[in-house]
Amino acid sequence: MRIKVDLDLCQGHSVCMEECPEVFSVRDNPGGYPQVMVLQESPEEALRAKVMNAVRGCPNRVISVEG
Ligand code: SF4
Repeated sequence: MRIKVDLDLCQGHSVCMEECPEVFSVRDNPGGYPQVMVLQESPEEALRAKVMNAVRGCPNRVISVEG
């Protein structure tokens, strides 16, 4: 699995980090919205369910998963 985030549309809601902190970390972004940092672009398969919860939970729908 490979994770992509459209940072132009991320507004730092942090739902992703609540659902899967192993993969998503939301950081302050001076002068703008907080932004997510993807800690692992190709996480282990065992994290798929948590990653998919983050995908579904993101209010802006900016996380996508390939594979
Ligand atoms: S939930 Fe979506 S919009 Fe919010 S920080 Fe995560 S990726 Fe960005």
